[in-house]
Amino acid sequence: MTKTKASDTQVASTGAQPALKPGDEAPSGTTGTGEDVCPDCNGKGRIDGAPCETCGGSGTVTRAIGGA
Ligand SMILES: [Zn+2]
Repeated sequence: MTKTKASDTQVASTGAQPALKPGDEAPSGTTGTGEDVCPDCNGKGRIDGAPCETCGGSGTVTRAIGGA
């Protein structure tokens, strides 16, 4: 197992922004958004034994709520 400075830098730069899952409509914590059960896996986080891509396996997605 080796650790390189290059990979550390890459992770830091990509980690600056919140990762959006495919099913997310907005970054987590955004005003006017809320967590909802993933429509693809119905909150299980898995489909046929494989992690759900829509919610990243968490079972929930961030959706815009309200009528803003
Ligand atoms: Zn899902």
